[in-house]
Amino acid sequence: MLRADGKRQKAKARSYKLRPKSSTMECLKSEGPPMIRSSRRRFLQQSALATVATLAARPARAFADAPASALPVHARAPLTAGTFTLLPLGSIAPAGWLHRQLEIQANGLSGHLDETWADVGPNSGWLGGTGESWERGPYFVDGLIPLAWQLDNARLKAKAQRFLEWTLTHQQANGMIGPASNDDWWPRIVILKALTQYHEVSADPRVLPLMDKYFRHQFAALPGRPLRDWGKFRWQDEALSVLWLYNRTGDAYLLDLARLLHQQGHDWLAEYANFQFKQQITAEFIKLNEGGGLKDLALATHGVNNGQALKTGAVWSLVSGSPADRDGTAHMLAELDRWHGLPNGMFSCDEHLSGRNPSQGSELCTVVESMFSLEQALAITGNAALGDRLEKLAFNALPGTFTDDMWAHQYNQEPNQVECSLHHKPWVSDGPESNLYGLEPNFGCCTANFHQGWPKFTASLFMLSGSSHADAGLVAAAYAPCDVRTRIRGTAVHVAEDTSYPFRATVRFTVNPASPIAFPLSLRIPAWTDTAAGGSVSLKVNGRPEPVPASGSFARIERTWKAGDVVELILPLVPRITRWFNDSAAVERGPLVFSYGIGEDWLKLRDRGMTADWQVFPRTQWNYAVDVDRPSADTAIKVTESEPGAIPFSRENPPVTVAVPARKLPAWLAEDGVAAAPPQSPVIAAEPAETIRLIPYAAAKLRITAFPVAKS
Ligand SMILES: [Zn+2]
Repeated sequence: MLRADGKRQKAKARSYKLRPKSSTMECLKSEGPPMIRSSRRRFLQQSALATVATLAARPARAFADAPASALPVHARAPLTAGTFTLLPLGSIAPAGWLHRQLEIQANGLSGHLDETWADVGPNSGWLGGTGESWERGPYFVDGLIPLAWQLDNARLKAKAQRFLEWTLTHQQANGMIGPASNDDWWPRIVILKALTQYHEVSADPRVLPLMDKYFRHQFAALPGRPLRDWGKFRWQDEALSVLWLYNRTGDAYLLDLARLLHQQGHDWLAEYANFQFKQQITAEFIKLNEGGGLKDLALATHGVNNGQALKTGAVWSLVSGSPADRDGTAHMLAELDRWHGLPNGMFSCDEHLSGRNPSQGSELCTVVESMFSLEQALAITGNAALGDRLEKLAFNALPGTFTDDMWAHQYNQEPNQVECSLHHKPWVSDGPESNLYGLEPNFGCCTANFHQGWPKFTASLFMLSGSSHADAGLVAAAYAPCDVRTRIRGTAVHVAEDTSYPFRATVRFTVNPASPIAFPLSLRIPAWTDTAAGGSVSLKVNGRPEPVPASGSFARIERTWKAGDVVELILPLVPRITRWFNDSAAVERGPLVFSYGIGEDWLKLRDRGMTADWQVFPRTQWNYAVDVDRPSADTAIKVTESEPGAIPFSRENPPVTVAVPARKLPAWLAEDGVAAAPPQSPVIAAEPAETIRLIPYAAAKLRITAFPVAKS
């Protein structure tokens, strides 16, 4: 059905040009907000320096040992081992375009939030002040720690350290941690995640005793003061930290604590065994306006809760040993896709589950929490499909909901997002500012919580295979440029991953053990490589072809590695059409989703300290049907590639574009800034044939992603 011309070009993994060479079509004219445009020059300069520094530094880093504190810790009996084990934070450093993306984040709101937003500023309750004392301080530090250490940024480390020091030095006599002004279990679940990461990079001897004393306190207190609301629905995130400590200390009460959390927590596996929430959740259904806080029905259909819950089956299978539990993550994803799935890889949640109409939104907290769940579940299950989904979120939904400089973000993003304004209210329960780009549109949870997205993705690119040090190997679980340094049976091993993936097809690994050593290196072969449109996976070691397993599994190369061995993986990035709400069509290529970038007019709503809130209005038409169902040469999709530039997901210089035949569809309209649902395809489209250029989803801040399909 689809004829595609996905020419593969030779990757130039080390040649990161600040100015992409060319694009066959003129860029759409787009005015970014003044804040972004003025900072772009500064950023280009910084990025040029950073790029040079990254490349220059690589030879010197090549044989560096992993940090002494960063040796992997395997599952301790009687826990069931995961298929893979996450490497300790600090083992993986970003390179290439990913390094530039993390630098953008560090130079944006993440690196300055405490200077401009009181909720994580000097008066935070998590610094001993009288200000915000609930989840925002822990959220911030949970993302700031991996960002700071991955960039080896002393300024950011010092910011994170302030929160850690206060928590480490203010444990109450009974073991309680955090501000004394509340005793809610939920924000402690978040600071525990931060503490585990901090211990992995620092080996600070205060961390394990503090966690142990807190868990003993909680184990004694929970029967009389059980989990409630957010903590009840997010218990699986605490179970992760409890098991993390058990693997280090072996204290049996920790397994009993995990069982108590499971017993008191919401039964997500039961909810999804007989999934009932198959339509847009209304305020009436969840009794939102009846007072008394969120009811269990509201919490069970809440987007962020469901994103966090994706890990539940996988995490609990470590304790239960049940293969059915282990499959829970894949089952939950399948149900969410079926009833609430969107073409950007997310499920709708604005902020409860909202059906498949691509004008509904997804909250940024849900994006980063779903990513974190997928990272954990991928490690435990070894299910390659979870890696596919993780990349889809990382390369589309995550960057798509920020301005290029990461100084402003949305609360809700939509696949079909034709206006970001105060007019725009398709949400069931979220406020009118939810899709503005700003400091804290709608509510500040995402402002505090988004920081973990890119850094934890970076920390999950490589994992460890094997259940003990004796049979350890490395796994490339998701692909992006990075350096991994670890030890395998005592030998320091460095792997440099050079690639412009997902924009280009070639991923090149240079394996550098300190001395020759045998171990398996496994590489994820995404399910989308099994494409009827042609192309095949190529895998070579030092130029010699290796067998490639079925799509949706892992290739495993067993050999004695010596310094300088090169593994080259080429994934067929062939454009494909996927079908969505009302049989609408989206164009995908590898993990990237493509959108029609509507002309943007950015209008500042108000200044917000060091940043601002923005509305974005369309200034071009957007109502196209794509003409991809006609079996003739003029329906071919043409791909143009260039190297990613200073801003990887830039609209001005997108690294990859696709040209798609289309026809205007005048009857498809917006009302009050909201695109109507795409009419049921196929549609009769009588307007003249055109070719429209699609850019990466994340590059288009106003966009159409799900198109009606013209009748052939
Ligand atoms: Zn949020």
